[in-house]
Amino acid sequence: MQDLFDYAQKSGIELKNVGRCQFCHSNVSKGVFECEGNLNHLTQILDFNNPIYYETRFLSVDAMALQHCELHGPWNNHIHLTRLYLIFEKNIKWDYAKTPLLSNIINAYKKDKTEFLTPPRFGERGQLTTLDLLNASTPEECINIVKSWATEVYHSFSEHQTLISSLANSFLNRYG
Ligand SMILES: [Zn+2]
Repeated sequence: MQDLFDYAQKSGIELKNVGRCQFCHSNVSKGVFECEGNLNHLTQILDFNNPIYYETRFLSVDAMALQHCELHGPWNNHIHLTRLYLIFEKNIKWDYAKTPLLSNIINAYKKDKTEFLTPPRFGERGQLTTLDLLNASTPEECINIVKSWATEVYHSFSEHQTLISSLANSFLNRYG
């Protein structure tokens, strides 16, 4: 996590540790730091080493990353969004082996390109936030809330659907 905060600072983004989250606008009191902490709630309820919760883990990583995408390098958006597309639109059962394969596709695509996948404005990247995760008290509730959260974030980036579906098709053609 420290690396990500370092990245933000190098990019000239001052991270606020008081008040609502500057990225997702969740009504927390310690900013994005509290959003990060809220994620731990999931690991208190779900054993992420258990394959039946892999999908929930990937969805939570993607939702968190896209909702707070200024904490990452610009090409991460392509990876997170394409993975969500493959899971939601193509019903791909994601596992750890597939992520490096998707990175291969993105790495090949980004050669000689400098595009930036413009995110929605702050506070417009899905209504649900990390604060809503705290309402889940059973594994089933966690699975459902994470799925809704990731779905909302995914749809908030819908202007990039054409690009993302083409990257997803490259993945499926090569590895599907
Ligand atoms: Zn946040």
